[in-house]
Amino acid sequence: MTVEELIVLGKKYTSSTHAKMLLAILLEVNPLELLTILDKIVEEDKVNLYKKSLKALSENRPIQYVIGHVNFYGLKFKVNENVLIPRFETEELVENIKNYLEKKNIINPKILDLGCGSGVIGLTLKHFFPNSLVTLVDISKDALKVAESNAKTLGLDVNFIKSDWFSNVPLSKYDVIVSNPPYIMTDEEIEEIVKNNEPAIALYGGSDGLDCYRSILKYINKYLKDDYLIAFEIGYLEGEKLKELIKETIPNSRVTIKKDLSAKDRMLFVEKNID
Ligand code: GLN
Repeated sequence: MTVEELIVLGKKYTSSTHAKMLLAILLEVNPLELLTILDKIVEEDKVNLYKKSLKALSENRPIQYVIGHVNFYGLKFKVNENVLIPRFETEELVENIKNYLEKKNIINPKILDLGCGSGVIGLTLKHFFPNSLVTLVDISKDALKVAESNAKTLGLDVNFIKSDWFSNVPLSKYDVIVSNPPYIMTDEEIEEIVKNNEPAIALYGGSDGLDCYRSILKYINKYLKDDYLIAFEIGYLEGEKLKELIKETIPNSRVTIKKDLSAKDRMLFVEKNID
């Protein structure tokens, strides 16, 4: 079949944009370039893979899982059903940490990423701070496999620990502790495509969404350097309540809640109070 025929076929299963995106990835070209090769005959194995992927898309599977990778902060990460699909908001979280480290001029930070999933946060930071010491933690063996594979492909040397939050993390002091834990409230309405495809273990954070932060906060004091940054991604309704929890757990801290690009509270940062 030709590229043109495949695009026509694709539109029967999914949107024109997704069909072209899929085909472009399979043919390793830019989606715009497809239009310049409409008459090209596509090899049979690629056609079969394309048809299989179209079927998955028509069954409402997320395109990121069907394609098998995503772009995060300019880096290519493998993803599958064992990990959350990275969100733009998490790129903002990473950007804030990057700005903090640059402002403080810390070139060899010790960073702990709790609940790393595919590894996007910890690995992106390692990419930008090659002299950093980064440890990625997850309770899921299958998620760690994805993160390990991403570290290998990106050529990044980091540590991995299978652990339920701090339970298996050896005592050591960190400059940055970051986490995008499961924070969706049990009763919260979320998109069907998310609910039906992404791992529940990476999404739900108990009745008020804060269970995982509670588990993290229980031991966090022992793992912080004197000067530190805690960076949490949060649910958009959870900032104020989490701020209170933090004030109880970490006296003398300064808490800042930041909005994402959709103007929703999405990040919470904790630093030592210097006043
Ligand atoms: N931001 C994700 C969503 O809205 C949830 C991520 C998380 O729970 N950490 O689907």
